[in-house]
Parts: sequence; structure tokens; C-alpha cells
Amino acid sequence: MKEILKIRLANDDARRYFRDDIGKLSGDVRVLQINKQSVEYDRVRLLDCEKKEKHIFYSWEFQREYTQQEWDSAALLHMFIKKTFEPDGENCGTVYDETAACSICGANRIQKNDLHLQRRSIPKKDIARTLPMEIVVSKWFVEAVKKWGIRGCVFLPVMHGEMQSEDYFQLKAEREVTLSLHTVAGVTPFDFTEISENGEVFRCPLGHTIGLRLVSEVHVIDALEVHEYDFMASKQKIGMRQGVYRPEPIYLVSPRFKRMIDEEQLSGFKFEVAHIDKV
Ligand SMILES: [Zn+2]
Repeated sequence: MKEILKIRLANDDARRYFRDDIGKLSGDVRVLQINKQSVEYDRVRLLDCEKKEKHIFYSWEFQREYTQQEWDSAALLHMFIKKTFEPDGENCGTVYDETAACSICGANRIQKNDLHLQRRSIPKKDIARTLPMEIVVSKWFVEAVKKWGIRGCVFLPVMHGEMQSEDYFQLKAEREVTLSLHTVAGVTPFDFTEISENGEVFRCPLGHTIGLRLVSEVHVIDALEVHEYDFMASKQKIGMRQGVYRPEPIYLVSPRFKRMIDEEQLSGFKFEVAHIDKV
């Protein structure tokens, strides 16, 4: 696996640590793509730690490339949803019981009625999500899941006002799996602050939310569910309560699920390899 950290930062910061010909310049912003195994990666770490009170990155993301052999031998995969849309359910009439949520991190509120969304706002993909991770899937996805006998998907109605959508359904996971300590999340790849000076909770002391953003690949603890289901949500969440955002689960799928997506040519999905840690 090749692991590249893509960061955007002010060129003034970049030039103190990197030669001018490294990365791409766009206005005053330098975009760097840094291999995690390289000495440059340690330089980025130094640079970020030096200015810890105010992160130097405008944005960061890991890009992971796998060999065919790594895809073929993976027993579990992390499923990403490429498209996010607004407005979210709550702004369209979906009701949540926030008293059920953790008072510290805001995770685990309970949805009290069907998911209401604006018909026109839903992207023309087979899967898409709102900012607080309400997932909608197309009827083609639902048909494929039935045809392939994929286990672990729960489909619920999507409402447009009083009308039930014929084209889209809400997707939830029947089962949860537990992330292992090898799943690392942070504010940046080098900052693991748990509660900010302003009182923002990035890591819940009760264990619901493990960090603002995922830094590592996903590792789950081995359990029966991991082998019996094709679609699962993580028990622990990533993110924070802010505006309409809520801490959200990570979705894990079997290799068979990915084969279905590929062979049925369903759109909107991206995958990474995930790991099952034997206890
Ligand atoms: Zn919590």
C-alpha cells in the first residue's frame, strides 16, 4: 500500500521546509503530496507541531493506493460515500430525539420518523449522504442487494413531504462492529487533542467518538458479525457536533459487497482496505 498525505498550506510556510520545486503552487497556496515513508513526512510533522495553536494546513487528506494482490487478499473494506448533499433531513421535517444523544459528544441521537428530504436535492447516484450522515440509496442498489443476497442492509422509506419516494431509500446498518485501538483519528495526522481550549470535544471520554477525522486505515476487533454480514457500521464514531454535523459511524463491507458494486456498476462508492484484528 502506498500512502500519500496531500496537504494545502501557505507558500510562506512551505518554503521554510521544502524546496521551491516540490509540490504545486496555486496563488499563495502550495499543494504537497508526501509519501508517508519519506523524510518529508517528518518535516511536515515538525512544521505542524511548531504551530500547534493554529494548524498550518488549510486541508489534508490521505490517499491510499493498493496493489491488486492487496485488494484480492482483503477480508474487510472501508466504504466511503463520495457525494454529500444539502439540506439534511432535520431541515426537511425529520425529527430526532437529541435527549437520547451523549451530552458530551452528541453521538447516538435517535431518529423518530421517516427520513424527509427534498426530491431535487438528492444526487443522481446510487448512494449519497447528507452532512450529518443520513444515507440514501437508489432503487437499483436495493435490487442489487436482494439479487446478491447481501446481508446487513436495512432499507427505510424516504419521504418528500407526504409522498414516499419511489426511487430512493434510507440505508442503515443492521449490525455494529467495534473499532480496535489501531484505528487512529485526530485533528490532523499529528494532533490528537481530545478537548480543545474552546471546549470542543474531539474524543469522548465515554468512548462514543474517537476523533475528528480518520488518520489511519480502519481496524476492527474480530467478532462473529464481521464474518456473517456484508454491510456494518462502526460502534465508535468520527467527527463532532457542530451545526447540523454529528459524530458519524464508519461503514465496513465485505469483499462480496464491493464485487456487487463493481459488477452492477453502481455509482458513488469508494473503498479502502480495512483490517480485522485478532484479539
Ligand atoms: Zn459521547
